Amino acid sequence: MDCIFCQIAAGEISSDIVYQDDKMVAFRDIYPQAPTHLLIIPRKHIPSLTELVEEDALLVGNMVNVANLLAKREGTAESGYRLAINCGEQGGQLVPHLHLHLLAGRQLSPTLG
Ligand code: 5GP
Ligand code: ZN
Repeated sequence: MDCIFCQIAAGEISSDIVYQDDKMVAFRDIYPQAPTHLLIIPRKHIPSLTELVEEDALLVGNMVNVANLLAKREGTAESGYRLAINCGEQGGQLVPHLHLHLLAGRQLSPTLG
């Protein structure tokens, strides 16, 4: 499959992987927008939030659990962090494989978008 995040999850494209288990992979964003900028993805190829089916809903919970774990590991759980999922063109989604952004390590703007 010609999906860059599937290829990262399979280890076919190198990336700075910070977590992986049988369902999830997390790695550092190549163009970080904050000192900590991680992407948490399911190994399963789901193009976007709008393609989620009910049986996949648990995966989103798993993604948040992994993000919370990594926020602690990065030492940013106390200072704070932001989780974001972009969906579709106007939502700012560029890579069509569901991913959760974890941003931390600087003061983030309270305004979104
Ligand atoms: P989106 O805009 O789709 O929500 O976010 C996609 C993110 O993936 C962007 O922040 C972008 O910098 C990151 N990204 C795109 N290609 C690669 C890549 O090949 N490796 C890594 N580590 N991050 C990537
Ligand atoms: Zn994919």
